Amino acid sequence: MDAAHAILVQSSAGKDSLVMLHRIATWAKKAGCLHKVVVIHIDLGEESEWPGVRELAQRQAERYGLRFHVLRAEGGLLGLVEKRGMWPDAARRLCTATLKRDVANKLLRQIAAELGLDEQAVILNCMGIRAAESPARSKKQRLAIDMRTSANSRMVLTWHPIFEVTDREVWQEIATHGLEYHPVYDALIPRLSCVFCVLAPFDVLVRAARLCWALGLPLPARYRDLEAKIGHRFKQSHSLAEVYAEAERLERKEGALVWNRGDAVRQHLGADAADDYLARVALAA
Ligand code: SF4
Repeated sequence: MDAAHAILVQSSAGKDSLVMLHRIATWAKKAGCLHKVVVIHIDLGEESEWPGVRELAQRQAERYGLRFHVLRAEGGLLGLVEKRGMWPDAARRLCTATLKRDVANKLLRQIAAELGLDEQAVILNCMGIRAAESPARSKKQRLAIDMRTSANSRMVLTWHPIFEVTDREVWQEIATHGLEYHPVYDALIPRLSCVFCVLAPFDVLVRAARLCWALGLPLPARYRDLEAKIGHRFKQSHSLAEVYAEAERLERKEGALVWNRGDAVRQHLGADAADDYLARVALAA
């Protein structure tokens, strides 16, 4: 951190970003480097993401008095699919590359240029990726030179500061420090991704459709209709039409989804931890 000229924290506002941000802000403060930290959030728009994500990312950054940049990925996931006539998949995650990486890299180059240094700028680009998330992610390096974005004028280092942290440890840190997380976790949606993420399993997509209905969002029908219009199945294993039908069946059987604030902490750490967390958040408000 001391050697870096700028420290960029890429925040989705999700639980992993939240813990990464807390750690970076704590370490940077100790190292006297807080002024170098910039939080970047990429906004995919209301037709792709859950409500309140951008505002939450901003509040999370402001808790530490950090600079906050929002970048808009025009059209979001839906716009990308409409344009290409097909859904991205795990092997060709064009959505991540086009909507997130390319947009963030543009700002990264701009920040390096604005430093106006005579020497090569050293940029730490921090991301909240964890090895436990997937076999593909576990193969990533904790710290590496980003050859694609580095140039004579800048060396970009990609750093995964919470790489070895487990799911339970993430929730433990959130609970201990009373960090504000997005309410969709309380509805037991495990990741704060796009509402209908191409990487999400069937049961999570079904729950996402039901949560949309509970929140009065029109997205399930919008996505199902887009799938029918472009004639490309959302995933080999299941279509969005099947997700929609299963969500409808469960609504009829169980009624609308209900959840309470703190349910995510309750699920991961137990009832006492959830009560402590809620008391801590209320105190900070
Ligand atoms: S959250 Fe999922 S669908 Fe959205 S950009 Fe990332 S991988 Fe693609």
